[in-house]
Amino acid sequence: MYTLGIDIGSASSKVVIIDSTKTIVADAVFPGGAGTSGPVKVLAEIFLKSGLGWEDIARTVATGYGRIGFHQANNQISEITCHALGVHHLFPSVRTIIDIGGQDVKAIAISKEGMISKFVMNDKCAAGTGRFLEVMSRVLETDVSELGALAGQADAIVDISSTCAVFAESEVISRLASGIKPANVAAGIHQSVARRVAGLAIRVGVTPMVVLTGGVAKNEGIVNAFASELRQEIVVSPSCQITGALGAALIAMKELINLRAQEASA
Ligand code: ADP
Repeated sequence: MYTLGIDIGSASSKVVIIDSTKTIVADAVFPGGAGTSGPVKVLAEIFLKSGLGWEDIARTVATGYGRIGFHQANNQISEITCHALGVHHLFPSVRTIIDIGGQDVKAIAISKEGMISKFVMNDKCAAGTGRFLEVMSRVLETDVSELGALAGQADAIVDISSTCAVFAESEVISRLASGIKPANVAAGIHQSVARRVAGLAIRVGVTPMVVLTGGVAKNEGIVNAFASELRQEIVVSPSCQITGALGAALIAMKELINLRAQEASA
């Protein structure tokens, strides 16, 4: 008995298949989210990887920005709920979740029992998101996956003071033009993102354990800068980008078990 969770984000599509013991059977990530061929491609990849097909999937839940347009799902659930559930499954003692995706940032406070007690979200401005880091990595002529390593070579942190992504880009260009080392500029970019995200986290209250999720959690420069802004240990799972999809698969399994129980008692 398998269920599938799909998280269709703004930047990427993520999918997880679990079995009835809630163990991950397979997962896949494809760069391309809502409005792209990402969902179709990520599903082709997971079915190839797992040797499973739609006929093996008993229930599907979709989450993320593009969930409403995904008609193969039996249910659509908000990404706040799915992220919280996915992270709580991996780290039962999590109390604070920060998810940095392609175009938004969420801070979620979880009770000891694993219930969402508060959340705040920035989806109005690119600053502090993965998109901001992608734009900056282009200016620095590096791939976004290399940006953290570049910042790691810094011997000083250049202050990036603009709070708007567009102005920050101009500020970065002028810093580079004035001869400042790209590594030092990269460190400043990471600090600027970490500062904004820390501001959001403080609004929900920062209680350990703090877990960082989303594609941006793969950037060790952000993890380090965020830890030093919050003066707090930050935990990152190797599955950081798929926690929303995992939460969706877990909800699908719970719904399936409830449906089967209802059928059995009818
Ligand atoms: P969404 O759910 O909104 O589609 P994701 O959680 O998939 O977004 O995060 C996408 C962001 O993750 C990208 O904008 C990029 O900044 C970052 N990212 C993705 N892969 C990597 C990587 N290997 N290293 C560093 N950052 C990454």
